[in-house]
Amino acid sequence: MEQIAAGIHQISKGVNAFIIDGDEGVVLVDSGLPKRQGAILDGLTTIGRKAQDIAAIVITHGHADHTGGAGAIKRDSGAALIVSETDAPVVRGDAPAAPPPIMDFPILRNLIGLVPQAEGVAVDHTVVDGDVPVVSDLSAVPTPGHTAGHISLLLDRHGGVLFAGDSAMSTRSGGVRRGFMNRQSARFDGSLRTMAGLDFQIACFGHSAAIVGGAAGSFRAFVAGI
Ligand SMILES: [Zn+2]
Repeated sequence: MEQIAAGIHQISKGVNAFIIDGDEGVVLVDSGLPKRQGAILDGLTTIGRKAQDIAAIVITHGHADHTGGAGAIKRDSGAALIVSETDAPVVRGDAPAAPPPIMDFPILRNLIGLVPQAEGVAVDHTVVDGDVPVVSDLSAVPTPGHTAGHISLLLDRHGGVLFAGDSAMSTRSGGVRRGFMNRQSARFDGSLRTMAGLDFQIACFGHSAAIVGGAAGSFRAFVAGI
């Protein structure tokens, strides 16, 4: 587990999930791969928390590497599960997950086939845009492209913390590039511009290292060049 900032922790177990620890309890952003929820629960123990302290699990999008632990963690904690309205049927198990945009490449399709399916989970709240239920200082920003219902999450702490899910990635030098398995499209690049228009200091990603300090500037620099 890596501390990104006070009360913000990144669990990296093949994919990143995040613990937000605050006065109102614990919030998870994404829940990792299926059957790997132990890493998240161990992380909670490390910071003196337990599953029952989790008030909400907020999911950026309906792919198994982000929703996989949600069912088990929800059973342990009773936490409210919150997803976008559009991706909710996938998370519930009522609709198949949409493949990532780059999946026309057969070799990648084979790799994705190795990710175990996530169990369907009951959804407590859906969000479209704006305030996230249960968590007073978290808001949802629609960032479609990676999936139709992908949301990024903006936390009003530390000058703004953006959880970008798979709608963008960081580069090794602290820049930003198109997100995990995304291809260029007007909708997807529109989402990058949306994020570049927000104010935040820290950005966290599903599949790359966080940018700590001036993160919105990295988004603005990227979109200025597309
Ligand atoms: Zn994804």
